[in-house]
Amino acid sequence: MPHRVANFFRSSTHSLEHQVSNFTKKSSSGSRRRASPPGSGRSTGSELVAYTSEEELDDSHAPPYVPRLKMGDSRTSSFTSDSHKEKEHGHHHRLSFPGMHFGRSNKESHVHTPASLDWKLESPPIVMYGNAENSTGALLSGQLFLHIKDEALEIESFTATLTIRVSQKKPFANHCAECTSQCTEIKKWSMLEHPLVMMRGQHSFPFSVLMEGHLPASMETPLVSISYEFKAEAIPRSNGITPVPPIRLEKVLDVKRSLPASEIPHHSVRVFPPTNIKASAHYPHVIHPIGSYTLALRLDGISKLNPRVNTIEYWKLKKLTWRLEETIKTVAPACGRHSPRLGDSEEGAQPKKGIVRSDTRIIGEKTLFSGWKSDYTSANDAKVELELEYSLGKHARSACDTKSQDGTEVSHQLMVEMVVSQEWAPVNKPSLVTHTGVGRILRMHFGTILTERGGIGISWDNEAPPIYQDVPPSPPAYSQETNLHSDASIAEMIEPLDGALTAGPVHRLVVEEEGGSSRGHRRASSEGR
Ligand SMILES: [Zn+2]
Repeated sequence: MPHRVANFFRSSTHSLEHQVSNFTKKSSSGSRRRASPPGSGRSTGSELVAYTSEEELDDSHAPPYVPRLKMGDSRTSSFTSDSHKEKEHGHHHRLSFPGMHFGRSNKESHVHTPASLDWKLESPPIVMYGNAENSTGALLSGQLFLHIKDEALEIESFTATLTIRVSQKKPFANHCAECTSQCTEIKKWSMLEHPLVMMRGQHSFPFSVLMEGHLPASMETPLVSISYEFKAEAIPRSNGITPVPPIRLEKVLDVKRSLPASEIPHHSVRVFPPTNIKASAHYPHVIHPIGSYTLALRLDGISKLNPRVNTIEYWKLKKLTWRLEETIKTVAPACGRHSPRLGDSEEGAQPKKGIVRSDTRIIGEKTLFSGWKSDYTSANDAKVELELEYSLGKHARSACDTKSQDGTEVSHQLMVEMVVSQEWAPVNKPSLVTHTGVGRILRMHFGTILTERGGIGISWDNEAPPIYQDVPPSPPAYSQETNLHSDASIAEMIEPLDGALTAGPVHRLVVEEEGGSSRGHRRASSEGR
């Protein structure tokens, strides 16, 4: 994902700048350096090299710094900045602070830090396959590395937690921290059963958790944000004279969801009474944040012969606008303090626990004045055909489809709006066009699912090889079901329509309420399978 890459670069640049400034400052103060840089005139690139090689020299137990940054940070969000350089008593320490507390790192640079904490994720990027009801979840596993810099250090406790934070942008009560943000602990690890004296060097602690499939994906919307925070904390025993600060690591995990996509496009037919205009559309039901998609549209019923006066009336398509709309709904919960008490509410009424917020934003749109094929040669079979290319806007911020237990819901639709105007001409002189002055706006909405690509990843439970009992006595035969299925889809494609409403495959007939200038046109759609 380009934005993720961008975040990664921004994050590393930020910490690099920080490191470089520390670096320059410290080397000018005359500290002992094994790979001392020739001065501030060098490019950032070569400073990075000098810095990296020194890191390797200093910290011979650890793998090289740069690859580790890549492994760990490429999956985490930008505000988790990695390691800051601290130099004290001729030693070289690495410390991790969350980006939010940059100010503190300066203050604490004078505190002796006898250890540092790092991590490496071993599980693939966290993707939930399927919806909240049937997803088997995603595995998170990795190792925490505690680097002891002193000869020996007693660690009193070492814990890690994974929490989900849901932050409301329009909380139940303004300026209330409890109403704004809800944290739920998913997992807590105790890395040490009891205090332990650890010797100089790197100590690794594996961790893993199955993140259940109902958990929502990370998201950032104008109403609500959902993030996963991994925090580890090792508390060294104080030596009695100077307090030893806890050693912390804070990371934000990117959790994604990938909903299954059908290869066969959806087909839907709309009619626009009182005109005879009929629109037939084929479109993908599932789209992804990156990629371009095609809606194939055909307009029929756009011409009419008037035998009495020997004229043809027809509709001309003048303008077409498409828009990808994202609707976000969430329930901003009331905290204990702001939740109205039972006695305060109307008798029999449920105590209000939250307030529903909803918002719609446009994540892609375009207006076209040409690009379609019109054919008015036959009065009975005039048609307009077009292939509409659409995609998310280049810099659009979007959230994938979701429906979670806390009431947060994100959905999408493609809106297509066409402006048609009416003209007429004598049958024997079709070039003698006259505008009737009548125009119409035809508006259609196509339900669309925006989700992450499945990519090469597969669900963790499909990774396991089959166990012995699963092996059938003979190779599986081609099932008859497959043949039936393909026959059925052919039948679907050619099945004629009932009634005068629509022509095309009809499995459901829905009267659609279109907002605004509603014409209550009906929609027939068939699920592509
Ligand atoms: Zn509150």
